[in-house]
Amino acid sequence: MLIRLGRLQGTFRAPQRSLAYSGSVPTAINAPPLPIHPALTGLGILERGWLSSNNVLVHGDGAGATLIDTSHCLHGALTVELVRRALERAGSGERLARIVNTHLHSDHCGGNAALQRAFDAPLYVPRASWDAVQRWDEDALTYRASGQRCERFCAQAALAPGDVLATGPRRWQVLAAPGHDPDSLMLFDDDRGVLISADALWENGFGIVFPELEGEQGFDDVAAVLDLIERLPVRVVIPGHGGPFTDAAGAIERARVKLASFRAEPKRHTRHAAKVLIKYHLLEERQQPLPELMQWMQQTPLAQAIWRKLDRPERTIDAWVQSLVGEMTDSGALVLHDGVVYDA
Ligand SMILES: [Zn+2]
Repeated sequence: MLIRLGRLQGTFRAPQRSLAYSGSVPTAINAPPLPIHPALTGLGILERGWLSSNNVLVHGDGAGATLIDTSHCLHGALTVELVRRALERAGSGERLARIVNTHLHSDHCGGNAALQRAFDAPLYVPRASWDAVQRWDEDALTYRASGQRCERFCAQAALAPGDVLATGPRRWQVLAAPGHDPDSLMLFDDDRGVLISADALWENGFGIVFPELEGEQGFDDVAAVLDLIERLPVRVVIPGHGGPFTDAAGAIERARVKLASFRAEPKRHTRHAAKVLIKYHLLEERQQPLPELMQWMQQTPLAQAIWRKLDRPERTIDAWVQSLVGEMTDSGALVLHDGVVYDA
């Protein structure tokens, strides 16, 4: 079952015959007759719009279901409802047996707390992030640096590269996927050729390479992970954002082209990251007066680091933000009206 939720930011309305959404959601979504690759049988894929990552519900054939990634905290209630309905559709009173995070960016783990309240399921996080979660270190977890929101949660178990995660009939190899995030994991079902790639590989690209923004190596890791994926017998990729796709080789090729352009001109990656940071913030806030956005950027360590890395463009952060917002309104990513910046 694959449900596309598009630019889903609004409220959930109890379905009539099929899933439907209202509020600020621009599109009514029906449970669609989308083509489903045979390798995806038994997986519920909730494809979410930006801000929230996709959720993958792995049905367990009596062993309980496993939910992989939980989206952003702003959509927590909706994610709970979507998972509840997906479990109901599976029939036989299937329970949620565990929650797994590929990595702990706020758009992948923000629903953890709400999901755990609703389903009382143990949470598995990457072992490399375990200590930071236990002491809720918002610096190590990057929420403070990136100025992003994430409701506090507790983890009960850890997964490390080399582990095998059993979810009913499926066995998932746990793979390291550093680059976008040093601690990120991917999951690969060798038997069926299904790769849950998180933000290491999308159909068109990959997530921002955060270590590079802080002066650490990350591009080599991205390249190594693409090489790793290329060696796997992948039939279908379920990325952290966007729909599942079967042409892994094509996606790897496109990712390598993008990576090469970032390597050739690292500032291109850095400038792109600045815009992603602003866009993500506006997805969280929906709208913000320009002076407040400037103030937020001034107070956000990652924004400061990016500005310094770009050799302090426009001389002040305020002027830099103004020019970025100008570019982003020109491209249609944002709208500026009466001094207020809106997500477009
Ligand atoms: Zn991420």
